[in-house]
Amino acid sequence: MAEKVLVTGGLGYIGSHTVVELMAQGFEVVIIDNLSNTREDVLDRIAQITGQKPVYYNGDVCDANDLEKIFAEHSDITSVIHFAAYKAVGESVEKPLEYYRNNVGGMITLLGQMKKANIERIVFSSSCTVYGDTDRSPVDESSPIAQAASPYGNTKIICEDILRDESVASSLSVVSLRYFNPIGAHPSALIGELPLGVPNNLVPYITQTAAGIREQLTVFGEDYNTADGTCIRDYIHVVDLAKAHVMALQRFGKMDNRFEVFNLGTGNGNSVLEVVQTFENVSDTKLNYRIGPRRAGDVEQIWASTTKANDILGWKAESSLEEMLRTAWAWQQTL
Ligand code: UDP
Repeated sequence: MAEKVLVTGGLGYIGSHTVVELMAQGFEVVIIDNLSNTREDVLDRIAQITGQKPVYYNGDVCDANDLEKIFAEHSDITSVIHFAAYKAVGESVEKPLEYYRNNVGGMITLLGQMKKANIERIVFSSSCTVYGDTDRSPVDESSPIAQAASPYGNTKIICEDILRDESVASSLSVVSLRYFNPIGAHPSALIGELPLGVPNNLVPYITQTAAGIREQLTVFGEDYNTADGTCIRDYIHVVDLAKAHVMALQRFGKMDNRFEVFNLGTGNGNSVLEVVQTFENVSDTKLNYRIGPRRAGDVEQIWASTTKANDILGWKAESSLEEMLRTAWAWQQTL
């Protein structure tokens, strides 16, 4: 019988790509999403890709009643993948209470309802932001957790702490996935990132500039201690990232420890200017950009050690930077 999984935030950027991969692997998917950062038609688009519409509830993980109803109507759910959270670093500095309430409060409510429904498996969306401004790239999972640079980053650290404590106190099993920089879109160009307003992240800013929605990209700083002076990140294709969530579900039952953490990146770093140049090549466009001042809080360079995810999850990122940017551009052109 197909395993049934609840995906919170399943209509969001990473959530929707993960739902597609889960369905392709024969999982039955139930989605809860409050549409705070996406659109309901993503559901039809998932159906177009997979040939099947997942079960969807318009609901909020902060609302215990919404979760209780889902777990009552789907008593065969065995695990949860928890994406539903706010993710804008700058906004979190302006609205810390909103971030703690939604990201930390939402997860506590979810864990409480999971416990009532006897569901003991959760995959959590974490971030490489937990490593802070490390000078040890490639960074591995045993690297120390840094003091968070934003309330957003702190919610990821706090949620991991809560999950670790709960895995000790109860029979909850946790796989926490620390994403590096997810970019790109589904090759069908039916789903992708839908930034609200002016994008904060590099790649949506690039594609919107190329599409004429933004005037000019500002490269934040050219005086870093890197080969070309711009910051280095580990960009990973969202479809590769999505596939890792399927592998994470398959990890339950085989875990050495009830709390496990994995980095999800390619293991390679690219500078901002390398991303810009690669985008120009694959899109055959000239990008209007200028060099501006550094952005406060930016880490100079970070990329992942992927050995643990490769060896234990049996997962490896496959997509090239070219492919990531080609799909991001194809998606942008549909918007
Ligand atoms: N970046 C930039 N211009 C932008 C947005 C981002 O130069 O308009 C740079 C940013 O300084 C960082 C990299 O692109 O070095 C990735 O930034 P993003 O916000 O996408 O991810 P994060 O900072 O969270 O790694």
